[in-house]
Amino acid sequence: MTMIGFIGLGRMGRPMASNLCRKGFRLVVHDVNPAPVRELELLQARVASTVGEVAAESDIIVTMLPNSAIVEQVVTGPEGVLAHAKRGGLVMDMSTVDPLVTDRLAAAARGSGLAFVDAPVGRLASHADRGECLFMVGAADQDYARVRPLLDAMGTTIHHCGGVGSGMRTKLVNNYLAIISCQLNAEALALSQRFGLSLAKTLEVIHGTTATNGQLKIAWPAKVLKGDIEPGFTIDLAHKDLTLIVDSANAAKVPMPVGAAAREAFSTARGFGFGARDFSAMVDVLCEIASIEKPRLP
Ligand code: NAD
Repeated sequence: MTMIGFIGLGRMGRPMASNLCRKGFRLVVHDVNPAPVRELELLQARVASTVGEVAAESDIIVTMLPNSAIVEQVVTGPEGVLAHAKRGGLVMDMSTVDPLVTDRLAAAARGSGLAFVDAPVGRLASHADRGECLFMVGAADQDYARVRPLLDAMGTTIHHCGGVGSGMRTKLVNNYLAIISCQLNAEALALSQRFGLSLAKTLEVIHGTTATNGQLKIAWPAKVLKGDIEPGFTIDLAHKDLTLIVDSANAAKVPMPVGAAAREAFSTARGFGFGARDFSAMVDVLCEIASIEKPRLP
């Protein structure tokens, strides 16, 4: 039976790996934080104390880590995945990273006799809990076929976007709109609050016109608008993604003036101590700065 290595059991990786365990896959897991590792152990996953141990025992190695630097260190570092993995194995990175890092990792994996797939994740952490993720996959056809059963166990919507790197590039395009929506919604709702309008009525109007968006309609009522700003997806990670997006766009000579401004709004939020809060809390940041009552639904 195929052995799956899973490295990175954070807000997303923990439920994704848990769903694989519950659906009968054999897992060996690792995270630098022991708490989620213990949870996976209760679901019969084997626990590895190093990345190398995971790699040596696995046929497919999944990484779900915070950023480019950590993914690069875990995959290509001296004690990393490629140094210990079996030839013929496959590495699937599901983190959101710089697409140029994805290209480098794929080349390094090929050089070590392993296949590489990028499969970043769309939708919210609550979808990951329920096994309802959306995946954007960059892979050769035969590698896509190898990972498809795993993706089916963790999600409900799987897009094969093209060859390696196309999943990550699609993810950046998607996250551009998803993240700047939060800043736009923050400004709009702060203005509505300042005007003294009914929040419920304002939302009802917006949801009936082309002004609405998924953050405002689906995500925010379950998070900031009911007073819950625990992540979810942190402002730190949203800032990381906007930086990836603006830098990647600029490197490709695509100007991103709104993206750059939104990124600096996220920088401000981090400066105000909101980095570890859910990205819907952007409206709370703006309301604190402008001394406006935070918008909350009854
Ligand atoms: P997280 O910070 O909650 O989890 C990251 C995990 O990686 C943590 O458990 C951490 O201990 C572990 N880790 C860090 N360095 C490690 C190392 N060297 N070796 C082993 N483990 C290590 O982040 P998350 O919210 O789960 O996001 C993970 C990735 O998925 C990010 O790239 C993020 O941008 C992306 N993403 C997040 C969401 C979301 O809603 N949270 C949605 C889609 C995509």
